[in-house]
Amino acid sequence: MMRKTLFADLILPVPIANRFTYRIPREMESLIIPGVRVVVPFGKRRMLTGIVDSIHEKAPVHYEARYIYDVLDESAVVTPHQITFIDWMASYYMATPGEVLNAAIPAGLKISTESYVQLNPQADLDELDESDTILDLLHQLEQRESLRYEDIKEITGEKDAFKTLQYLSKKGLVILYEEVRERYSPKTEKYIHLATHLAGNDKALNETFETLARAPKQEDALLACLQLIKRDADLSDQLQRIPKKALLDSNASAAAIQALIKKGILEESEVIVSRFSDYSRELKQVTLSPEQQKAVDQIIRGFDSTDVVLLHGVTGSGKTEIYMDIMQHVLDNDMQILYLLPEIALTTQIVQRLRAVFGDKLGVYHSRYSDNERVEVWQGVLSGRYQIVVGVRSSIFLPFDHLGLVIIDEEHEHSYKQYDPAPRYHARDAAIMLASQHKARVILGSATPSMESNYLADSGKYSRVRLENRFGDVSMPEINVIDTLRKTAQKKMSGPFSDELLEGIQKTMDSGQQVILFQNRRGYAPYMACHQCGHIPHCSQCAVSLTYHQYGEKLICHYCGMRESVPIACDSCGAKEMKPVGLGTEKLEEEVALLFPEAGVRRMDLDTTRTKNSYERILNDFAEHQFDILVGTQMVTKGLDFGGVGLVGIIDLDLLLHYPDFRSHERAFQMAIQVSGRAGRRDTVGNVFIQTRDLKHPVVQQIMHGNYDAFYSNELEERKEHAYPPFTRMIRITIKHKDRNITREAAQTLERRLSAALPVRILGPQEPLVNRVRNEYINELWIKLERKGTSPALIKKSLLNHADNIKQEKLFRSIRIIFNVDPY
Ligand code: ADP
Ligand code: ZN
Repeated sequence: MMRKTLFADLILPVPIANRFTYRIPREMESLIIPGVRVVVPFGKRRMLTGIVDSIHEKAPVHYEARYIYDVLDESAVVTPHQITFIDWMASYYMATPGEVLNAAIPAGLKISTESYVQLNPQADLDELDESDTILDLLHQLEQRESLRYEDIKEITGEKDAFKTLQYLSKKGLVILYEEVRERYSPKTEKYIHLATHLAGNDKALNETFETLARAPKQEDALLACLQLIKRDADLSDQLQRIPKKALLDSNASAAAIQALIKKGILEESEVIVSRFSDYSRELKQVTLSPEQQKAVDQIIRGFDSTDVVLLHGVTGSGKTEIYMDIMQHVLDNDMQILYLLPEIALTTQIVQRLRAVFGDKLGVYHSRYSDNERVEVWQGVLSGRYQIVVGVRSSIFLPFDHLGLVIIDEEHEHSYKQYDPAPRYHARDAAIMLASQHKARVILGSATPSMESNYLADSGKYSRVRLENRFGDVSMPEINVIDTLRKTAQKKMSGPFSDELLEGIQKTMDSGQQVILFQNRRGYAPYMACHQCGHIPHCSQCAVSLTYHQYGEKLICHYCGMRESVPIACDSCGAKEMKPVGLGTEKLEEEVALLFPEAGVRRMDLDTTRTKNSYERILNDFAEHQFDILVGTQMVTKGLDFGGVGLVGIIDLDLLLHYPDFRSHERAFQMAIQVSGRAGRRDTVGNVFIQTRDLKHPVVQQIMHGNYDAFYSNELEERKEHAYPPFTRMIRITIKHKDRNITREAAQTLERRLSAALPVRILGPQEPLVNRVRNEYINELWIKLERKGTSPALIKKSLLNHADNIKQEKLFRSIRIIFNVDPY
C-alpha cells in the first residue's frame, strides 16, 4: 500500500497573506501537530520559524513544497483559539497573519538564525600565505568545533567579518552554515544534596568526616551542609536538596564544595526555577461597601442579557474592588481571567492590590519584561499555572484556552491602540472579540467612557452599571477654572502660573499634602526661535519644528528622534539670540523648583521613564511622600491612587482642547477628569485648578461641573453631524513616498478609483499637519463606512486589491500604503 504524503500549512512571520505549505518528512509525522513551532527554509538563505496551522494531504498547486527542517516543541505552544484570533485580527485590521503572529509571540519563543563557521576538514593549513589575523582565526577554528560570526568579529577585530569569511569560504578553507537555536533559556539554580550512600547513615558519615580531618575547609563545608539540611528538613530526609547559594552564604567555600562533589560526598543538581518569586503569602479579604455590592449584583445580572458590561464609576469609586469580587466568582468556576491595563505605569499598583488577594495565581505581562520573563508567563498560561493575567495590550495574544472574564480597565484610553507597526489593533476592541470567541464575559471600566462604548451601552448592546460616589465618603474634588486671558491682562501671571494656582500650591504644601501638575508636552520648550528674525529650527527629515531639551542641550525631533546640538547663532540671520519658546514638562519642573525652593519636585514623562523600573521608582517615591510635587505629561493622568494629593493643576488645557483631531474634545474631557480624579482623600476635599484662555468653551464648562452626560450628548451631536464614529467606522489610508508629487498623484489616483468602485465616503487626499516624516511625504485618505449596510470585510478586501494594483504601476512602484482601521 502506498503511504500518504503529509503536508502542513504554516503561518510564517512574513508580510504575505497566505498560508505556506511544506512537506512533512516521514520521521516527523508523529511530531508535527497543530500549534507547534517548526523551522523551515524560506527563500534562498533564510530559515524561518512558523506555526503549524493544519495538516493535510494536498500538495500545493503552484509550487513544489519544501521539507520542514525541524520541529521545536513537543506540544503546541499556540492554541487553536489563538490561530482563530490571529486570523480575525489580520483580516479586521488589514494586516497579514504573519504580521499578527510576529506581534503575538514573544521574541523568546521566536527563533534566531545564527550563522556559524567551521574549518573545512579538507583544508590544509600548512604553508598558507595569509595575514596573521587570518592565520590566527584559522588556528582558533582548528581548536574548536565551530565559531559564531559574532566571535569571528572579535578575533579579527573587524566590524563586519562577512567579507573575510566569504574570502575564506571561496578558498575552501572554511564552511559556513546556519544553525537554528532557541532563544529562550530557562532560569536554573544549583542545588546540593548529600550523596545517597551517606544520607541517613551515621556510620558512613562519621567515617567520611574522619577522611576529611586534614581538610578543615571541606569539613566545615560538609558540616554547614548538614546543618542546613537539619534546619530545613525532616531528620530522616537527609536527601533534601538545598540551594547551593544558601550553602555559600553560610560561609562554605566554593572550592571546598567542589572538592566534596568530586569525592562523591556531595552531589549537585540543576533545577529550573521561576523568574518570578513566590507570592503565596497571606491573602487579604476585601469587604465591599453596599454601593459596590449593588454594582456587583448589577454586573452579574447584566451578564444575563449582554456579554459586555460597561462599569461607569467616578474616579475613586472602587472599581478595582468590584472587579476583584467578580474575578473570585470566575476563579471558583475554574476559568481564566485577562485583566487589561492601558499602560505599564499602572500595573505596579494594581498588581500589588491583586496579589494581596489572588497570590501567585497571577501572572503579569508587559513589554518592560525581558524575553525570558515573557516566555515564562506564556508557558505559565499554557500550563495553567497562571489563571489570571494582568497586562498591557499585547497580553491579548497569550495562549488562553478557557477565558471566563476579560476586564478592560480605563477602557477609554487611546494607548490601547497600537500605532506602528502592523497590526494596528485596538486592544479593547480586539479583547472583546477574543472574549466572544471564548464565550467569556467582558467588563469595561472607566470614569469617562469612550464615545463608542457609551454609545453601545445606550443602544442596548452593552449593559451599563453606574457608580456615582467615591468609596468611603470621599468627596469629589472641587474644580476651579482659571481664565488666563484675564489673568494676563491683570498681570497676575508669573510664567505659566496664575496667582491662584500658586496660592493653591503653597496652601496645599503648607497643609502637608502633595501636588500633581499636568502639562501635555514633554521636553523643555516646544521649539526654539531666533529673537531677531523669528527663525525656528526644523527637522531636516520631517516637516516639524525641533523640541528643545535642556537636559543634554539638544534639539530633538519628536517624530523621527533626530538630535542636534543647540545652535549658538541663528541659521538664518546669524544673531546669537536663540531662545526657547513655550512650555514643556522639563521647563515646568525647573520653574516649579525655582518658585518652591523648599519643595521636592520630580518629573514623569517619556524622557524620565525609559528604563525598566523608572516608573515604579517615581510612583513609589511619590506614594511614600519622598517628594511633594509631581510634574508630568498624560502619564500622570492615569488611574493612579495616591493618598496624599491635595491639588492637581492643569497648566494649559487649551493644548488638549484645540488639537486638530475629531477626538480632541473627547480626549480633553477625559484627561481633565482623570487627572482631577487623583486629588482628594477621606478627610479633605481635593482641589483642581485648570488654566485656560477659553473659559466659555462648552467642554470647559462640562469639565468644571464634572458632567459626563452633558459632554456625551453634546459630543454625540457633533459626531452625528459630521458622520464621525461611533456613527461610522473609519479607515485611514496613508500614502508615503520621497517625492511630494508622486505621493500626491498616487493618493489622487487611489481616491478616484476607490470612489468609482466602492459605496463609501472618502475624505481627502490631504496632507496631514506634519506632511513629511523621515524624508517621506505623506498624503492621507479617510474612508468612512456606515455602521449598517455595506460589508466592511468586502470593502477592506477591495481596498487592499486597489492598493496592490496601484503599486504595480511603474510610477508608483515604491510608494508605501498603510491602512489603519479605526485610527485614533
Ligand atoms: P477607581 O479605580 O474606581 O478609581 P479604586 O479602585 O482605585 O477606584 O479605589 C479607590 C480607593 O478606595 C483605593 O485606595 C481602594 O483601595 C479603596 N477602596 C475601594 N473599595 C474598597 C473596599 N471595599 N475596601 C477598602 N478599600 C477600598
Ligand atoms: Zn524628524
